[in-house]
Amino acid sequence: MRVFKELMRYEDISEEQLTETLGMKPNDVRRALYKLERYGLVRNYKIRNENDGTYIYYWYVDRETLNRNLLKIKKSVLEKLKRRLESEEDQYFYCPACGLQFSYEEAMGYDFTCPRCGEPLELAESNPRKKLLEKIVKRLEEEIKHEESVL
Ligand SMILES: [Zn+2]
Repeated sequence: MRVFKELMRYEDISEEQLTETLGMKPNDVRRALYKLERYGLVRNYKIRNENDGTYIYYWYVDRETLNRNLLKIKKSVLEKLKRRLESEEDQYFYCPACGLQFSYEEAMGYDFTCPRCGEPLELAESNPRKKLLEKIVKRLEEEIKHEESVL
C-alpha cells in the first residue's frame, strides 16, 4: 500500500529513486512492486545504462487498468445497493422513546413493542433509510455512466 501510494505521485519513477524516497529495503520494495504487477496495477519498463551496461527499471501505475478495476468495483456495489433497496419497505416502525427502527416483520416479531425499552412501536409512513439508499444509488449510477463515457 505504501509503495503503491508513493507510485501514484509520479508519472513514472526508477526503482532506485522509489526505494530512496520510501526509505525501505530494496528487496521489500521490489517484492511489493512485483506483487502489484501481478494484480495488474503497475507496470515497468527498463532503460539500459550506457556507462555500465546495467538496466534501470522504471515503474508506473497503470491508470487505465486501475480506473477499469475501480469501475468494476463500483458496479458491483451498485448491484448490492439495488438489491437492498428492493428489500426496503416504504413503511417502517420505530420506538418513540429510543428511536430504534424496525421493518414490519421485525416489529411483528417483537409484538410491536420495543425490545430495548418496552415502549409500543409506532408506524412511520416514509422510510428515511430507503430515501438515503435511493439517493446513493442515483449518484453511483451517474458516476458509472460518466466514467464509462470517458474510459
Ligand atoms: Zn425503545
